[in-house]
Amino acid sequence: MAQALKLRVQCHACGYMIEGTAKYGEGHYVGEGVPFDFVAIGKVINSKGKRVVKGEVTCICPKCTVRNKYNV
Ligand SMILES: [Zn+2]
Repeated sequence: MAQALKLRVQCHACGYMIEGTAKYGEGHYVGEGVPFDFVAIGKVINSKGKRVVKGEVTCICPKCTVRNKYNV
């Protein structure tokens, strides 16, 4: 099942606040905001003891078209 990851990041080049969702997993999914590519690199246990997915997201800034990469 597809899981939506909400993201709010700042463009490295122009400082524009990019907001959108990335998809993790299989299945149908409709994103919101700026589209992100998500690559999972593993799972970690967060401070609440819950397993959360960790990975890298890339997106293209809608303002200056620079490609940005973030760890989530
Ligand atoms: Zn930008």
